[in-house]
Formats: sequence, structure tokens, C-alpha cells
Amino acid sequence: MTTLSRFEIHQPGSVAEASQMLEHYGDQAAIYAGGTELLLAMRHRALSYQHLIDLKVIPGLNAIEARDGVIEIGAACTHRTIESSSLVREKQPAFAELESQVANIRVRATGTLGGNLCFAEPHSDPATMLLVLGATVRIQSARGTREIPIEKLLVGAYANHLAPGEILTWIVVPCAKSNHRAAYMKFQIHERPTLGLGLWLETPNGGRTLTAARVAVGCVSPFPSRASSAEALLTGSRAKVEKRLPEAAALIADGADLVDDHEGSAEYKRHLIDVFLRRTFHKAVPS
Ligand SMILES: Cc1cc2nc3c(=O)[nH]c(=O)nc-3n(C[C@H](O)[C@H](O)[C@H](O)COP(=O)(O)OP(=O)(O)OC[C@H]3O[C@@H](n4cnc5c(N)ncnc54)[C@H](O)[C@@H]3O)c2cc1C
Repeated sequence: MTTLSRFEIHQPGSVAEASQMLEHYGDQAAIYAGGTELLLAMRHRALSYQHLIDLKVIPGLNAIEARDGVIEIGAACTHRTIESSSLVREKQPAFAELESQVANIRVRATGTLGGNLCFAEPHSDPATMLLVLGATVRIQSARGTREIPIEKLLVGAYANHLAPGEILTWIVVPCAKSNHRAAYMKFQIHERPTLGLGLWLETPNGGRTLTAARVAVGCVSPFPSRASSAEALLTGSRAKVEKRLPEAAALIADGADLVDDHEGSAEYKRHLIDVFLRRTFHKAVPS
């Protein structure tokens, strides 16, 4: 492993100041949160910056708050903070559970949710689940704040929708309701997941009938995506939906841009989608 080249760390007092720093230093600067991806990429000379803007020192960005049916998670919250948050466990337990399965304890204690989403490493977990939970993200720069659906943030492998000077500040996740069921399952044999599948179902009667569904798949393609074409097959009586799962899995696989990579062939990933749609369905609505 090579050594890091010299860089300067800047500690802004606010998001606005951090954004001004980003604009001032241009291509020479990047946001530095947990550094678990950034410093590795810099060490391997895949990325090079002379100025790192430390997000973790900005007051408030590591908070988790609940209001008006949503939980707001500061972008600088570590995976560990989120998995152990009593608020997240209570209001959106499926997401707290997902966070407890990200990487290993050392990465979770340092890596942040914002860093995970912005780095957009294709073999990541949270974005897939945030898609089915209907999350939005708040983005701030010196010019102001805007909020977009998570879908819009995800534009490609190692690519996000942020414009120069923009910073992801909050991830806004709708709270679970008593008539909702949500589950995430992943399959992993190497350091990063091979597949992640998120499922959200609306059921007025404890799982016997499903009146709305959202499903998303990640890690098998350059970036996670919802499989809207399969969602109609996931509504109706539980018994009927269960029979349609192979058909729904085939549609999910058809709609995902399945890639051959070090985790396996596209055909293998098609098979995994079939297996994990069934498993995730049974986890969300046990018989
Ligand atoms: C060994 C290992 C195993 C892993 N396994 C998994 C896994 O199983 N599942 C999974 O999902 N992930 C996994 N990861 C990825 C891990 O979740 C991320 O490394 C971590 O969350 C990234 O956050 P960070 O704060 O360290 O980001 P950093 O490394 O600090 O930043 C990453 C990138 O995002 C930018 N950035 C960071 N925050 C912001 C922001 N708020 N606004 C704008 N830009 C920003 C930075 O400029 C940089 O380009 C693994 C990582 C490692 C090293």
C-alpha cells in the first residue's frame, strides 16, 4: 500500500462555510467525513486532494431527530450511531437493523451515512433500503438548501447528483406505520455485499392482503434502483403474491442493469434476486 500525499484539513464552523471552502479550493478539495472510503482512495492514488473539509466538526450534523412523521438523520452520523439510536430503532426498525449489518464494527464506528451515499460505491447497503422507504435528502450550499428524493441523488457508480460546492446535510426517512412492513436482506461472501434487496409493503390486516409495494435491488448493478415494473405483482392477497414471486423476481432482474463483476456473473445475480425476493418477502410478512 502506498502512502498518502500531503493535504491540509480545514475545520469549518457551519455548512455554509464548508461550502464556501469547497468552492474556493475547487477540484483540489473534498468533504472529509469518516474518511473510510476517501483516505483509502487517496492512498491508492485513485483520488487526490490538497484540501479536506472536515464535516464532523460542524455542530448538529451528527444529530438524529424525529418530527412530523419522519426521522431526520444528520449526514455526519456514523452507521454505529444510527444502528444504536433508540429513535431509529423505534421509528424505523428495519433501517436500524440494516445499519447494524453494514461492514464491520470499525467501519461502522467511523463511516457515515452521508459518506456512504455520496461515495456511491456500487456494493453498498443503505441506498437500496432508503429507496423503498421513500427517503429524501437535503442538500445545502452557500446558495441555499434543496430537498430531493433519494432516487435523484443516485446517478451512477461512484457518482452522485451534487453540484460543485453542494453538501449532503440530512437524510429524511419516513417513520414506519402499523400497517407497513419493511425488510432488507443482503448476501455477502467477500468484503462488500453481492446483493441487497429492500422491500416495503402496505397491509391493512397484518399481512393477509398487500395494498401497495415497493421493491429495490442494489449491489448487482452500477447503482441501486427501484423495480416499479414488479411492484404491481406484489399487491393482492398474500397467497397470490407468494405464487407470483418468481415472476416478480424475473421483472426485477430484467429492469436492473445486472453486471458481471468480481462478485459473480449477471446470471448468478438473477438467481440471487429470485432467492432473496422470497426470503425478504417471508421476513416482511411471515406466514
Ligand atoms: C472494509 C469495508 C467494508 C465495507 N462494507 C460495507 C458494507 O457491507 N455495506 C455498505 O453499505 N458499505 C460498506 N462499506 C462502505 C462504508 O459504509 C463507507 O466506507 C462509509 O459509510 C463511508 O462514509 P465516510 O464517512 O467514511 O465517507 P468518506 O470516506 O469521508 O467520504 C466518502 C466520499 O463522500 C464524500 N462525502 C462524504 N460526506 C459527504 C457529504 N455529507 N456531502 C457531500 N459529500 C460527502 C467525500 O468527499 C468522499 O468523496 C465498507 C467499507 C470498508 C472500508
